[in-house]
Amino acid sequence: MILVVGGGPAGAACAIGLAQAGRAVMLIERETAAIDKVCGEFVSAETQIYLTRLGLPTAALGGHEISMLRLVHAERTITAPLPFAGVGLRRRGLDEALLALAVKNGVQVRRGQAVRRIQTSGGISVEAGDEVLRPDLLVLASGKHEIRGAMRPTRASRFVGLKSYFALTAAQHAALANHVELILFRGGYAGLQMVEGGLANLSLLVDKAEARNKWPALLASLQRATPHLALRLDQAIDQLPNPLAIAGMPFGFIHGPQEDDPPNLFRLGDQAAVIQSFTGDGLAIALHSAALAVSRIIAGERPQAYYKQLRADIGGQILRAAMLHRALTTPLLGPTLLAGAALWPATLTRAAAWTRVPDTAMARCATYATMRC
Ligand SMILES: Cc1cc2nc3c(=O)[nH]c(=O)nc-3n(C[C@H](O)[C@H](O)[C@H](O)COP(=O)(O)OP(=O)(O)OC[C@H]3O[C@@H](n4cnc5c(N)ncnc54)[C@H](O)[C@@H]3O)c2cc1C
Repeated sequence: MILVVGGGPAGAACAIGLAQAGRAVMLIERETAAIDKVCGEFVSAETQIYLTRLGLPTAALGGHEISMLRLVHAERTITAPLPFAGVGLRRRGLDEALLALAVKNGVQVRRGQAVRRIQTSGGISVEAGDEVLRPDLLVLASGKHEIRGAMRPTRASRFVGLKSYFALTAAQHAALANHVELILFRGGYAGLQMVEGGLANLSLLVDKAEARNKWPALLASLQRATPHLALRLDQAIDQLPNPLAIAGMPFGFIHGPQEDDPPNLFRLGDQAAVIQSFTGDGLAIALHSAALAVSRIIAGERPQAYYKQLRADIGGQILRAAMLHRALTTPLLGPTLLAGAALWPATLTRAAAWTRVPDTAMARCATYATMRC
């Protein structure tokens, strides 16, 4: 039996692919029901392609179409077309639809059980609830969450991710329609876009010192620094009592093949690679890792071959995203780059394309059954 730990996009997609290939798969997800997650919820064109291949076209899930990128800093705004069309889609709906599809494909899905410990020496054993499971193969897709016995050797970034939903006024709703807005401020940035249900998703990455401020005080200080954000949030109604928060994300991390990688453990999604959140392609990387792992598992290959290919496919994107992130959050450099982009808005479109999962890698993973990723 193959055990998948984590029912986010990476785990669910891998479970579906393996089940479609005729494997017996069990998936354990610690949440009992759909929840909101800290995520900008920008579903890129690459993510949509992977979802459609799995049998989940995003059109079936609703969502808000996005075709333009607006970069904002202090008084300055620059708008440029995206090199692809995206969709704003809530994770609570997307992740749940993927898990429902897994069940439909014959995956045994267990909800409300957290895996507490993994042991990799002398065969894999997994502690979940009162049980010890001994799968033939383990797919670890627990996202940012570390599990004892299988921790990633990562360095946490100094940024904290925060997110809430807002009901905007009709005028601001209309002004934001079809745009994803990337708002730069001292010590971080925010993403703002519409999702289904007429709500706007505001997701921030802020320095952890800033995140110690109370949410209303933090929002007020960001609005003072950015009149554009003040306008968007004027009379907006915050939909959550407190923002969702996540800390310690190891941006830039990518698991390279190691001699001592356990032969029967594959890491997927954020467990394998973490791209800076402003790129809006973490979901595509999660789904690409799932497609790649499925093909390698079916071929009976060791995890090292999978990690090597994953690094070849997305290592460059992760490096470029890290460089852009550093530039955007460096006090004088960010505004200077923005001034340059104001003169040549086409560079924005080009920069947005630098961090995507490459077409060649996606074409290789077009079908699990007949092509080797
Ligand atoms: C601030 C921010 C904004 C972002 N914005 C975007 C965006 O707009 N677009 C985009 O494409 N990407 C975005 N990302 C990245 C994206 O959210 C992740 O890359 C993606 O969720 C990774 O998917 P995953 O399946 O690996 O992990 P997850 O989605 O985190 O799923 C992991 C699952 O494992 C479960 N789990 C955890 N521990 C256990 C356990 N012990 N036992 C059982 N189950 C467990 C969790 O409950 C969860 O359901 C953003 C990230 C951040 C931090």
